[in-house]
Amino acid sequence: VILVGAGPGDPELLTIKAAKAIQTADVVVYDRLVAPAIVDLAPPHAERLFVGKTRSLHSVPQDDIHALLIDRAARGLTVVRLKGGDPFIFGRGGEEVDAVEAAGFSVSVIPGVTAAIGGAAASLLPLTHRDHASAVTFVAGQCKGLSEQDWTGLSAPGRTLVVYMGVQDAGAIADKLMAEGRAPTTPVAVLENATRPDQRTIPATLKTLSSVMIRQAVASPALLVIGEAAALAHAPIPHRSPAFAE
Ligand code: SAH
Repeated sequence: VILVGAGPGDPELLTIKAAKAIQTADVVVYDRLVAPAIVDLAPPHAERLFVGKTRSLHSVPQDDIHALLIDRAARGLTVVRLKGGDPFIFGRGGEEVDAVEAAGFSVSVIPGVTAAIGGAAASLLPLTHRDHASAVTFVAGQCKGLSEQDWTGLSAPGRTLVVYMGVQDAGAIADKLMAEGRAPTTPVAVLENATRPDQRTIPATLKTLSSVMIRQAVASPALLVIGEAAALAHAPIPHRSPAFAE
């Protein structure tokens, strides 16, 4: 079983190693955020299994995904588990490694460009910068519940905080950070559909974030980039190769 990071959206952000692995697949198990052009790299004979959330928001339970990976591995097939971004950044890759290893099969991981890295590049937003940010933190806005996340110290002057899965609770997150002393004028950049043709980069501040998100009707997938560096974000310029045009 090979866990493969598919990158944040633009199919050209796939690594060469990832593309080669997909071309050897007998089975491809993929999520909603994986570009169709990437799944299409699999050989014609490969079984394609979609396990992401559908519009009705039903997704395949994680245990069923583990069972699927193990079942196909047990048949001697090369299984490529394609995940959006990087498998080990909020991708439950660690759980899948454990499950496959516990069943006695070998597993390897090919990294991908995580949404924060892809989105920052597309918006010319340097996550670290000698003049603005000497640290960057990736945090889940909604992993096992906002209240369980300790926000203390995650955001401070001279640091960049990138919130994944934070659309729903953006206002509450901004309130918590301001309650902990972050200035209401702290810049925020909202990166929606980063590296995709429909990407948007929307500027805000901690104080305006909630109203900006509503006014602009920001929808998932999106990232909140919080800190002085976020003020450097530009409107993204799409760059896509005709070879991958969809
Ligand atoms: N493993 C993935 C993250 C999965 S969690 C990675 O490394 O990128 C899903 C969250 O990732 C989304 O809620 C959103 O916050 C973020 N995300 C994924 N793709 C994105 C994109 N193209 N633009 C903005 N955010 C994205």
